[in-house]
Amino acid sequence: MAFISRPINLTPSNLSSFLPIISPKPSTPRTHIQCKSDENSNLDQRKPKQPMNNPSRHPRKKQSYGASRRSVIKKSFAQEQVEFTAPFSSDPVVGIIGGGMSGLVCALYLEKRGIKSTVFDTGIHGLGGRMGTRIIDPQPLIFDHAAQFFTVTDSKFAELVDLWSKKGLVRQWHGAIGELEAGGHFVPFPPTPPRYIGVNGMRPLAESILSETSMVNVVRPCWVSKLEPYNGKWYLSEKGKPCGHFDAIVVAHNGKCANRLLASSGLPLIARQMKRLHLSSIWALLAAFEDPLPIVSTESAIPFEGAFVKKIDSLSWMANNTAKLSGLQSKGTQCWTFFSTAAFGKQNKVPQESVPSTTAEKVKEAMLEGVEIALGLQKDSLKRPFYSRLQLWYGAALPTNSPGIPCIFDPHGRAGICGDWLLGSSLEAAALSGMALANHIADYVQSGGTCPDEFAVGLHNEFQPLKGHDIGQFPGLDSEEQINEAYDLQLTM
Ligand SMILES: Cc1cc2nc3c(=O)[nH]c(=O)nc-3n(C[C@H](O)[C@H](O)[C@H](O)COP(=O)(O)OP(=O)(O)OC[C@H]3O[C@@H](n4cnc5c(N)ncnc54)[C@H](O)[C@@H]3O)c2cc1C
Repeated sequence: MAFISRPINLTPSNLSSFLPIISPKPSTPRTHIQCKSDENSNLDQRKPKQPMNNPSRHPRKKQSYGASRRSVIKKSFAQEQVEFTAPFSSDPVVGIIGGGMSGLVCALYLEKRGIKSTVFDTGIHGLGGRMGTRIIDPQPLIFDHAAQFFTVTDSKFAELVDLWSKKGLVRQWHGAIGELEAGGHFVPFPPTPPRYIGVNGMRPLAESILSETSMVNVVRPCWVSKLEPYNGKWYLSEKGKPCGHFDAIVVAHNGKCANRLLASSGLPLIARQMKRLHLSSIWALLAAFEDPLPIVSTESAIPFEGAFVKKIDSLSWMANNTAKLSGLQSKGTQCWTFFSTAAFGKQNKVPQESVPSTTAEKVKEAMLEGVEIALGLQKDSLKRPFYSRLQLWYGAALPTNSPGIPCIFDPHGRAGICGDWLLGSSLEAAALSGMALANHIADYVQSGGTCPDEFAVGLHNEFQPLKGHDIGQFPGLDSEEQINEAYDLQLTM
């Protein structure tokens, strides 16, 4: 997929290139639920009584969070399309479900356009989703346990990164990054394009994105488990507990959780696009060693800090997070983040919530053995870490296919999707998607909502496979050849 390296503002005038082909007869039978705002209604606005799409009138089986993927798919094909026809409120509020890079940037850009929002996120430790940083006290040991660094190719994203840089939230990572082959052969990448990191890790960056906003409300931890259209608004709730009502909603997360949420929401087209997405599984091993790892030096005699590992099944990336975040030290504790390949993740998939201890031990040993092979060390010669933590990104790691469009928006249902997978598999892609959806919603609100069909985006786009490393794309860093190689590796392993 070609990475889009220019800002895209979806407006009615340039929309044609993103407009779906709307067949006169949708393949899925659609009935429309009119969802007009009723100013004179004496019904309690806080508690939806659901005259339309009302579970109490047409009782549905209670959604089970253990529902199989099959039943989720069946439900989302059968659901009715919700249709909001009343004009937008003069002071609309958008509900954003997901506080990763895409949801946070969407909220930021809605504010820039004068629109209020509330961001809901499940994060117990903080916002950020796959921009997670784990801090283990008392030492403390610090690891970025998903996104490691990012590159910048788009001018709109560059503006944002410049701003973060001026505020001291991000800085360049000058450590050597490159490719590592079994046996310890390290080939550094050229120093450009610059690689950026969160100054104190990725999570603090995520936590700061909305710090200067005045029109954004953040609710965390909160797992939005139901969306219900009623009386011209979307009502959100968490296991029966109301989370408020909104003029439009943004789904800024993906995977199984999003499929379940959308399965009976009244948004069949959005639900169908979400279901087409495939995500890889990756094991992450966070390991702290008493002493520096015996790593090979680069040509300039400086040990590498990050490496894409080649041709080792259990390892696709290793990074010295201590050197990255605190500077290279020749002595003392080092915190390393290791990621498996997607192929290894698939071979060793287990339920994320209850990883059997035997699997955990097997995976950890295989990954540490991978480290030994990568560094050209004798088997069992690597000193064991004094702290380690294993995490499985189970079917939730990186998108492997994409509709290649900045955002998806259903104007009849006043609902949109943003996320990395719309454009690629990187923080840059996630941020661009959030910006695009915010601007699109703002344009729609400004238009008065009178010509909804002009604002339908991405509802029918076909998906294409995504190319990139097992841990995503780094636009500008790799040559097309390298990307293809990395991709072929994923497919053949
Ligand atoms: C192992 C790994 C390594 C990576 N390395 C890099 C890298 O080095 N560089 C790079 O650019 N990219 C990397 N990526 C990709 C990058 O992390 C993602 O592209 C980006 O963070 C995605 O942001 P997002 O907003 O689309 O989604 P997410 O970050 O997934 O955010 C979604 C948020 O929604 C929340 N949520 C889900 N369901 C609900 C609900 N029902 N209610 C409320 N909240 C909900 C989640 O908890 C989460 O916080 C990596 C990813 C992984 C998994």
